[in-house]
Order: sequence, then structure tokens, then C-alpha cells
Amino acid sequence: MKISLIVPCYNEEKALPLFFEEIKRVSSEMSEYEFEMLFIDDGSKDNTLAVIQGFAKEDERVKYIAFSRNFGKEAAMYAGFCNSTGDYTAVIDADMQDPPSLLPEMVKILEEGEYDSVATRRKTRKGEPKIRSLFAKMFYKLMNKFSDANIVDGARDFRLMKREMVEAIVNMCETNRFSKGIFAWVGFKTYWLSYDNVERVAGKTKWSFWKLFKYSIDGITNFSSTPLKIASVTGIFFTFLALIMLVFVFVRALLFQDPVQGWPSLVCIILFIGGIQLFCIGIIGQYLSKMYIETKKRPHYIVAKTNKDDIVKK
Ligand code: UDP
Ligand code: MG
Repeated sequence: MKISLIVPCYNEEKALPLFFEEIKRVSSEMSEYEFEMLFIDDGSKDNTLAVIQGFAKEDERVKYIAFSRNFGKEAAMYAGFCNSTGDYTAVIDADMQDPPSLLPEMVKILEEGEYDSVATRRKTRKGEPKIRSLFAKMFYKLMNKFSDANIVDGARDFRLMKREMVEAIVNMCETNRFSKGIFAWVGFKTYWLSYDNVERVAGKTKWSFWKLFKYSIDGITNFSSTPLKIASVTGIFFTFLALIMLVFVFVRALLFQDPVQGWPSLVCIILFIGGIQLFCIGIIGQYLSKMYIETKKRPHYIVAKTNKDDIVKK
């Protein structure tokens, strides 16, 4: 049995040595399994690639794929999935927020045969800014209301899965990728493992508030067309409202005549409707821009350096 570990790395020169030590320790405890470690250098600007190349010299289980620039964690994970060969494959962050020590337990659950994948979630968001947790909670609520892909609050990308599931994910070749949604969408029986939040060992998080906000919009638009329906429903609502008001104004004018009045309220109404129209056009624009990018069929990532000889490019 072979286990592939996909490790997306972006500016992780400080965390990687600690991570590699831990992985070596954990894998030596699981000596009945063969390991493959796929480090994906996502266009790091520091010495991440040199550090990984050092690991590859020391340990032949280490393979690396270095991108030509930063393509984002989603692309890095996809490159990993496309190139992993193990019977079991796991995505695991380089910063130790996904504790490698959970691996033996995860493998054991898959070995029992009932489940196809073991996913992890954080029980708490200890150590995270309060406001960020609040927005994250709101996002999960919205996402689960809107979309076909149910996402567990606190779910991480850290999960171990069987070959069948990896194949299914590789076949989902969309450019706008949102892995949490993709994992849920492909289905398969998933066991959820909870653990206490761990803070990253070294380096900084790559997620600014703005990046997270954009990521959550991606999550919703990628797996649901509910916002478009909301736009239609809003349109219908205002059409009816306008009809009712028209009748009201008409009847009032017949009965009481109509001295010209109400200019300020008219302006407010025009502005209000205008705002809603622009908002709805914006929603349509979101989907249109996604389609535009999708139809270009650009590669997901460009490989600059690797020590694998049969690399899959997608
Ligand atoms: N990462 C990546 N490309 C990016 C951003 C992040 O490959 O553009 C990697 C990063 O090196 C780490 C993982 O994705 O291994 C998770 O990133 P981070 O720890 O910054 O996210 P957080 O844990 O705060 O959600
Ligand atoms: Mg992290």
C-alpha cells in the first residue's frame, strides 16, 4: 500500500524543516506503508524550493513540482492530485496546522473499509481573530443554504482519500476551483475527524481578509446559481409593487386630483431601484466573468522545475 502526501508550499522556508522532521517521524512509525511526498512549490519568493530540493537529496521519497509563478493553493492541490500515485492520497499544509500525527488514525479508518475518505475539521477557532471567525461562520451558513455542496463548518482541506475519489477530483477540471466544494460534490462516504485548532509553527498566513472574502464569493458562485434566482425574484417583486402603486396613484388622481408633490421621494425611489438593478447586473457579471475565464481553458498551472520524470500537466 502506498500513501501520497500532497504538500502545497508558498513561502514556507521556515516551517518546512519542522514539517519534514515530523513527516519522517510519522512515516517511520507506519513502516508497513510506502510513502510518496509531493511538495508543490507554488512560486515561492523565498528559499522554499532550495529547502525542498535539499529534502529530495536526502530522501528519495520526496518529489517536487515547482510552478513558474504563484498560482494559488487550489492549483497546487490540483497539480498534486494529477500527479499522485498512491492508493491513499492526502493533502496536508506545510505549516503543521494539519497535524501529521493524525495520519495513522486516518489510514486506520480507511483500512477498515467502510469509508472512502477521512476529512478533518477544527473543533474551535482558538487563536483566530474574532471578526474572522464571525465572517467564516456567516459564510458557511450562506454556502450551505445556497449550494448543492454541503460544507461542514471548520472543515479543512486536510483529508485522506482513496484512489477512486482522487480520480473523480482529477476529472473535475474546472478552472475556478473551490476544493472544499469539490470534495463535497464528488460525494463518497466521508468520516469526519475533529481536532483542536493548531496555530502555524512559523511564517505568516497567506490569507488577508480581502482574499478570504473573494474566496467565499467563489465558493458560493462555483456551486450554486441561487444568487441569480435572487436577482430574478427581486425583479418580480418590484414589478408587482410598481403595478400596485400605479393603480393606487391612478385611483387617487381620479378621486382627488393630483397636485404635483413628492419630488424627493421620487428621487429616492429611482436611486433605490437603480441600485438594485446594478446589484443584479453585478451578480450576472460574476457568473459571466467565471464563464469567460472558464472558456479560455488556460492551464491550471505551469511547471518550471520538477524531479518527477512522468509529470502530468493540466
Ligand atoms: N499555499 C499555497 N499557495 C498560496 C497560498 C498558500 O500553496 O498561494 C499553501 C501554504 O504554503 C500552506 C497552505 O497552502 O501550506 C495553507 O496556507 P495558509 O497556512 O497560509 O492558510 P491558513 O492555514 O491560514 O488557512
Ligand atoms: Mg495554515
